[in-house]
Amino acid sequence: LDEETGRNYSVRVRVAVRVRPKNTEELNSDFADCVELQPELKRLKLKKNNWSLESYKFDEVFTQSASQRRVYEAVAKPVVESVLDGYNGTVMAYGQTGTGKTYTVGQLGKNDPSERGIMVRALEGIFANTTAGSDTVTISYLQLYLESVQDLLSPEKTNIPIVEDPKTGEVSLPGSAVVQLNDLDHFLELLQAGEANRHAANTKLNTESSRSHAMLVVHVHRSFGGKKENEVSSLSDGTNDNLASHHVPHILKSKLLIVDLAGSERIDKSGIEGRMIEETKFINLSLTSLGKCINALAENNPYIPTRDSKLTRLLRDSFGGSARTSLIVTVGPSAQYYSETASTILFGQRAM
Ligand code: ADP
Ligand code: MG
Repeated sequence: LDEETGRNYSVRVRVAVRVRPKNTEELNSDFADCVELQPELKRLKLKKNNWSLESYKFDEVFTQSASQRRVYEAVAKPVVESVLDGYNGTVMAYGQTGTGKTYTVGQLGKNDPSERGIMVRALEGIFANTTAGSDTVTISYLQLYLESVQDLLSPEKTNIPIVEDPKTGEVSLPGSAVVQLNDLDHFLELLQAGEANRHAANTKLNTESSRSHAMLVVHVHRSFGGKKENEVSSLSDGTNDNLASHHVPHILKSKLLIVDLAGSERIDKSGIEGRMIEETKFINLSLTSLGKCINALAENNPYIPTRDSKLTRLLRDSFGGSARTSLIVTVGPSAQYYSETASTILFGQRAM
């Protein structure tokens, strides 16, 4: 427990904010910046105008010049490490469309490995710490659109059910493709194919990728030949008559979810019709429900209300309890989007 706040930091959600660099349009516009960063103090100041300045504290504040590597190391690496230790974990990116969610989590960095995002770096970290042969790493890659789960590795599969084991609480997606990875190149190929499938599926549905959640599910299965060292050294009574257990393999199973959430912008309902209304309804439902769950986690509330949306049902066994969760909220710098930026900052604050 933290002395100052009384919070349990192993349960609490870790929240970072990342501000993307200005794009050409923003560089050429007259809009001022609406954010001011104090990365050493881990503070972000939000400027509504010259008179009003609100300051917010985060676990990490990433400026326009923060590297992909730094973001990974501060936000995702602790989650990956606990996954390697046998615990489930989740890393999520939340923000308005165009603020850098996909850049942060999904960037392939094909021509420049320094540009690689969290998904690629996480798999890199997992491969560096597992042993081919005794350990297996599998992935599924899915999209959640209009409360329907679609397989991005096997795009003919739509409407995949979300099943929760009543005994263990384990969430599974029967029928979805589960691919065992050979190495990082294999992962890069699958991720790229998945992206292409996502694009094709969304073109067919006449929608944008920003209107759905993308989720990478990584299962790590580790097997250790003999007993763990600490178990051997704990034989304090001096007996050694449990030889059989020396040969019982020690198994760790865990799951990492990396989620590129749908754009959080509030669509102006006056100009939309048909499917757009449905989309907006579902995005609002899932992000609101996610916000409630994250808020409950942050307050150490033992009851996490995950039943309200498919997004939170999917996350159910990967946050809370022993699972670690990191949330990155992404914003643009320009005052042009002040209200979306403010609402993203507030979403992040609810998780603190
Ligand atoms: P989102 O997924 O939130 O809609 P993107 O990740 O597609 O946003 O980012 C929008 C654009 O901004 C892309 O061209 C992306 O490459 C660029 N971008 C976002 N964040 C950064 C960053 N931190 N550094 C450099 N470029 C970025
Ligand atoms: Mg995106």
